[in-house]
Amino acid sequence: MSDAFDILIVGGGMVGASLAAAFVGSPWRVGVLEARPYGAPDQPSYDERSIALAYGSRRILEALGVWLGLVVEAAPITRIHVSDRGYFGAARVAAREQGVAALGYVAPNRAVGAALMPLLEHAANIELIAPATVESTSDEGETVKVCARTPDGARELRTRLLVAADGANSPVREALALPTQVERYGQCAVIANVSVDAPRAGTAYERFTDSGPLALLPLGGARYSLVWTQREDAVDAVMALDDARFLAALQDRFGWRLGRFVAVGKRADYPLVLVRARTAWHGRTALVGNALHSLHPVAGQGFNLALRDIAALVEALRGAADPGAPEGLQRYQALREPDMARVVGFTDFLARVFARDLPLLGHARAGGLLLADWSPALNRWLARQNMGLFGRPTRLASGQEAAWPHN
Ligand SMILES: Cc1cc2nc3c(=O)[nH]c(=O)nc-3n(C[C@H](O)[C@H](O)[C@H](O)COP(=O)(O)OP(=O)(O)OC[C@H]3O[C@@H](n4cnc5c(N)ncnc54)[C@H](O)[C@@H]3O)c2cc1C
Repeated sequence: MSDAFDILIVGGGMVGASLAAAFVGSPWRVGVLEARPYGAPDQPSYDERSIALAYGSRRILEALGVWLGLVVEAAPITRIHVSDRGYFGAARVAAREQGVAALGYVAPNRAVGAALMPLLEHAANIELIAPATVESTSDEGETVKVCARTPDGARELRTRLLVAADGANSPVREALALPTQVERYGQCAVIANVSVDAPRAGTAYERFTDSGPLALLPLGGARYSLVWTQREDAVDAVMALDDARFLAALQDRFGWRLGRFVAVGKRADYPLVLVRARTAWHGRTALVGNALHSLHPVAGQGFNLALRDIAALVEALRGAADPGAPEGLQRYQALREPDMARVVGFTDFLARVFARDLPLLGHARAGGLLLADWSPALNRWLARQNMGLFGRPTRLASGQEAAWPHN
């Protein structure tokens, strides 16, 4: 195999692999360099988590040809219930009122990988290179040189466009020294699957508590995926609780809307950091996914936002003679900026305002939730936000295949 590519994607996690799927059938030769192959026990992207996929993300995954492989594992969300512990009032959003069958879906991260990988393995224009760790990149004018370490030794590759899909700590972004906002929230997310004895089919819950937000996403039947934010100084104690005490603490925070919490699976915790690169591209390198923006999981937006990065990059590069030329990458930045600023701002606002335990703030939040429940305009805005329907229109986001022109 030649070591010259049109597009090289660093990172074959959920975002890098989804982007590669968008280039299947394109006129370009595309490589994906991934340090930890799909299926490896320490693969950081396709791990124990489940992910809330917005209605708009389903359309993008359909356009990529991934949805069919995922749909059997995806549980629909037909209602969202948002409440604040200790205060009266809740905001509710219902799929029926929005004229859709589901506001979104919940799928295991591993199932996303299982749907993506066969597409990439069978595509004539895609080469998966794993395990391979990118160690350095250098701009050589018409191409970028990439040095990777593989089990067979060092490999040197060249590409016209380099895409960093290498996660929140993006070594590619770091090597370019791109200006980036990095702020620790002082919080961790504890995740686990839990079971209850009075499930409500299709309802997802977001509950703000004095320690931070808590989300329960329906997995079907009596099972829910829990994302429970904890202050950093409390997380070790919560992780050390035995199952019975963990379930009792969860019951105390969430209440009895789903009856009794009866079982909990394996737990994992993730430190929460806001990362936002100030630019989506530099030279012949573009950033996508967590490398561009890593968010607090409070609103379940990170991967959904990344799928819209992918839709925008594909839109910006359609018909380009050189995928790494600045015109296309400028178009990418312009397409992404408003959506990204809104989602990053909204998520950061929720994470900070709902984490503070001040009585006055509590009443203001309760008023906000009541208003969102009562006002049709605000309720529709909340629904569109959760359905991932903002952002500039692109082919993929409207559910149409990329249909690559042959340059
Ligand atoms: C607790 C939690 C819950 C979440 N829930 C939701 C949700 O409900 N909905 C939602 O939309 N989002 C959610 N998210 C966000 C979502 O998980 C991320 O947006 C998504 O995983 C980002 O994927 P990524 O591929 O950009 O990065 P990563 O998953 O970090 O993948 C990066 C990949 O790059 C590889 N890599 C890194 N460095 C190199 C290198 N030098 N060479 C080669 N490969 C390299 C890594 O091995 C990895 O496979 C949640 C996040 C958390 C923490």
